[in-house]
Amino acid sequence: MNDVTVAVEDTTPTVDDVMVELHGVHKSFGPLEVLRGVDLQVHVGEVTVILGPSGSGKSTLLRTINHLEKVNRGWISIDGELIGYRRSGSKLHELKEKDVLKQRTHIGFVFQNFNLFPHLTVLDNLVEAPVSALRRPRKAAEETARGLLDRVGLADKADAYPRQLSGGQQQRVAIARALALEPKVLLFDEPTSALDPELVGEVLDVIKDLAGTGTTMIVVTHEIGFAREVADTVVFMDGGVVVEQGPPAAVLDDPQHERTRAFLSKVL
Ligand code: ADP
Ligand code: MG
Repeated sequence: MNDVTVAVEDTTPTVDDVMVELHGVHKSFGPLEVLRGVDLQVHVGEVTVILGPSGSGKSTLLRTINHLEKVNRGWISIDGELIGYRRSGSKLHELKEKDVLKQRTHIGFVFQNFNLFPHLTVLDNLVEAPVSALRRPRKAAEETARGLLDRVGLADKADAYPRQLSGGQQQRVAIARALALEPKVLLFDEPTSALDPELVGEVLDVIKDLAGTGTTMIVVTHEIGFAREVADTVVFMDGGVVVEQGPPAAVLDDPQHERTRAFLSKVL
């Protein structure tokens, strides 16, 4: 056990409408300090886009939110609940694996490479987790799944296998699959980076639609146009810290930090 000691009062989420909160998050791999004190608040129903150079810690940040990586210092909460820990007296104790898995069911994750189950049909990809993790009756899960496939424009692909779909279609299935668990927050790690350019738009359109329905999302992407159009907040990360953040117009058009300007001049 590597329980961390943090005074309990320091782990209280700041305001009611914060869905995701990171407080002083540090993460190292051996001697390499990848996250060096990240503070972040994502409000309910908002879209936060994270930009930053390769190696700046964006994927690690998403993975700590999902507790795929344990933080070395600091804490993360979702909807007021600490991720990976429980409070006891003046200490935090690590949750058991099954309790972590339970927390993870509330956090949707969409990966760069889709990560669909290749041996399952599209419908079964969507039904698997609700049935096994949430103990939903199969019939109800199928009904929900068909509704979600319709929502991402793939109602006619329910019986197809992932290999029969284009990359853009596979990623739309992956998004529907994440939604099937009714997550409190959806995390996207460069959801369009593995796609041929002509398939990027259809995936961004699906994410844009979700933004319109009030889904809380954190999207790591290099698609600046998407950030400008869809983000409520743009966060620029470099070297394991948040360099600056704010509304898209502020960060993208009037960046205050040289590092942000240098990055944007390369990607714009
Ligand atoms: P980004 O997503 O911004 O490109 P990452 O979070 O993937 O950055 O990686 C940040 C740094 O952490 C990189 O130097 C990467 O090599 C390193 N890193 C990421 N995961 C691991 C790991 N599991 N073990 C060791 N180093 C890692
Ligand atoms: Mg990454």
